[in-house]
Amino acid sequence: MSDTIFHKIIRREIPADIVYEDEHLIAFRDIAPQAPVHVLFVPKTDVATLNDLKPSQADVIGRLTLAAAEYARQQGFAEDGYRVVMNCNGHGGQTVFQVHLHLVAGAPLGRFGT
Ligand code: C5P
Repeated sequence: MSDTIFHKIIRREIPADIVYEDEHLIAFRDIAPQAPVHVLFVPKTDVATLNDLKPSQADVIGRLTLAAAEYARQQGFAEDGYRVVMNCNGHGGQTVFQVHLHLVAGAPLGRFGT
């Protein structure tokens, strides 16, 4: 098993504000939120970056997106809208090398990419 800070959160070795968990994934509030809502969805399957995802692991990412959409519905901001982002490697801004989906919401979001 890899040993990123997210694995430590999964193992409850460091604290996090966990908002959802099942056998496949965990979701917790980002420690440095970039929007009024900023939640990270992290699979329990080891996948360092999107580059490492195998075709047989499509469900790993599918579950993250479905969990994020369900969280948005439950929290009441699905209709207003939200953004999901997955950063990959240096130019993508990835800093923790266990794949994760950022869910940001709660205000109109600016365009991105620069
Ligand atoms: O996509 P990237 O790898 O940059 O995202 C990592 C995210 O993990 C950051 O937004 C950072 O604030 C968050 N983080 C966290 N709790 C930690 C360490 C990092 O929420 N203990």
